[in-house]
Amino acid sequence: ATEVAKVKPIVASKPPQKEKELPPQPPLQVQEPPSSDRRDGATYQVGKMLGKGGFAVCYEGQLPGHRKKYALKIVKCKMPSKMEQKFQTELQIHSKMKQQNIVQFLRAFTFDNCTYLVLELCPNGSLMDMVKRRKGLTEPEVRFYSIQIAGAIKYMHAKGIIHRDLKMGNIFLDKNMDAKVGDFGLAALLVTGKDMQTIRRTTLCGTPNYIAPEILEKGKKGHDHMVDIWSLGIIMFAMLTSKPPFQSSTTDEIYRRAKNRDYDWPRPETSDKYISQEAKDVVATMLEDADKRPDPDTIVQHDFFVSGYVPTAAEITPKLRDFPPD
Ligand code: ADP
Repeated sequence: ATEVAKVKPIVASKPPQKEKELPPQPPLQVQEPPSSDRRDGATYQVGKMLGKGGFAVCYEGQLPGHRKKYALKIVKCKMPSKMEQKFQTELQIHSKMKQQNIVQFLRAFTFDNCTYLVLELCPNGSLMDMVKRRKGLTEPEVRFYSIQIAGAIKYMHAKGIIHRDLKMGNIFLDKNMDAKVGDFGLAALLVTGKDMQTIRRTTLCGTPNYIAPEILEKGKKGHDHMVDIWSLGIIMFAMLTSKPPFQSSTTDEIYRRAKNRDYDWPRPETSDKYISQEAKDVVATMLEDADKRPDPDTIVQHDFFVSGYVPTAAEITPKLRDFPPD
């Protein structure tokens, strides 16, 4: 159901656009071509624009006669082949994810030379928008969102997926203000577990000359997936203070500061935000060297979470009324 339907659209295509790669005007209707599980195809009414990304634009979409709204992500119609390949990886990975804190992938199809993704709608913007509006969150709110993101990371890692681009701008808020990880554009498949058996088997028949020992070592896991834990550490710091810890004017400077763990918590005398020692400690563990970073279960067992108050979804949602999206 999630494969990109290669069937030609029923609606006559316009000639290919030369310069602009995204439709200049949003289409009023989008036609999903017939496929094995939707023999008659479908027509989406296109609503308001939700946002624009590097190579995609998102609109609300709705099937006539149905109340449910979706996010229709239109991906650039013409992509260089390298990007196209990456996009196929994103599609394949995202379509296999099903977890309450990951944007649900519903369908993908081609229409008018563009690829459309039908996604679960997150109508309340991103975590970044909210943190900016609120100039940082309270510790109970930080616990609420960190537990949700840690849960999504645990799920992805158990499936052998590293997200590699977790940031507040890629974490969307659904109608209940729950966090949903989106944008699998940089995600990668980890080669461990069952796949390792296959690698071992195939390499042992072929030439093992080029395979690093840790790949062949039984049960030994690489630390690649720990990049997502680092990102969660940065996200938590930013939710608490409203700024990422290594923010600088140049990329080089950010890298240098990250390498040296050169960050400061706001001083209590200059800030109206109280940040507990437990919060600072748990963030510090996530910014350790990869092999020392805690896994998602260990994170949520930290004192910051266990000894502090974790609000329920019902307590988080009414806050939305005080701070509606722009
Ligand atoms: P890109 O892959 O180009 O970075 P994104 O996935 O970030 O594109 O999507 C672009 C924008 O569309 C986002 O910044 C966000 O505003 C909006 N958007 C993406 N997915 C959803 C969704 N599921 N619900 C609501 N808005 C979304």
